[in-house]
Amino acid sequence: YDDRDGSIWMDGDLTPWREAKVHILTHALHYGSSVFEGERAYGGRIFKSREHSQRLLDSGRMMDIPIPYTLSEIEAAKAETLAASGLSDAYVRAICWRGSGDDMGVASARNPVHMAVAVWAWGAYYGDAKMQGARLDISKWKRPSPETIPCFAKAAGLYMICTMAKHQAEARGCSDALMFDYRGYVAEATGANVFFVKDGKVHTPKPDCFLNGITRQTVIGMLQARGVEVVERHIQPDELDDMEQCWLTGTAAEVTPVGQIGEHTFEVGALTRSIAEEYEKLVRA
Ligand code: PMP
Repeated sequence: YDDRDGSIWMDGDLTPWREAKVHILTHALHYGSSVFEGERAYGGRIFKSREHSQRLLDSGRMMDIPIPYTLSEIEAAKAETLAASGLSDAYVRAICWRGSGDDMGVASARNPVHMAVAVWAWGAYYGDAKMQGARLDISKWKRPSPETIPCFAKAAGLYMICTMAKHQAEARGCSDALMFDYRGYVAEATGANVFFVKDGKVHTPKPDCFLNGITRQTVIGMLQARGVEVVERHIQPDELDDMEQCWLTGTAAEVTPVGQIGEHTFEVGALTRSIAEEYEKLVRA
């Protein structure tokens, strides 16, 4: 990804893509001190842009990474980078991190916090066979307890678990992994939330130790507007057997049907299809 034309916004200016670099003694590289956002623009407009900027600021606050920009400055930086990209449908990555400075130990309060925004074209997250139903592995790595780390932050440190889970999944021929939480309840995939359909109701894990995704909240709103009952609760792994349909939600994943999780299989049913279609329309509305 480093060898491309284009510009990346870094600390206030658009920088040529290939020159957007950090020093090897960047605190974030050694200790994971960064927070970020994943967003999508459709038709030249970032969907739920303010919500993402606000979550970036919230993540920074939760992870003790004070972001030196206001919400409107973050909005302006994203808009400027998107416009410079010339893309109308694009993925937007905003990131803030502890840089190199006076500290090289675990503490980094004296190191500056930087921000960058990069925009690139990114198609369907799970590939072109999106509507056929993704196959998911079951991860041996669990979402940590809220007492372990600020689990509602979108922070780099939390993604190491996801990367390991996804590597194992891909090695087994799956597109992603379902992770359980520290208590053993069904939690989420490595970069997306999960929903199930059973007897006309939608069940989704209660987000009490993982990201309550912006797409998740959008989809819950869509279901409720249709009068579909959405039950947010703790879901036991053995309940997967009884679930009829399953889909993932996320900015990158959008609404992606799931055909299989481990040994459990699901139908790509009418509700899954129509929610995926409605989401596609909504993001461009
Ligand atoms: N969980 C994780 C671990 C994620 O990385 C994401 C993607 N940001 C989500 C859930 C879904 O969040 P959103 O809908 O806000 O993109």
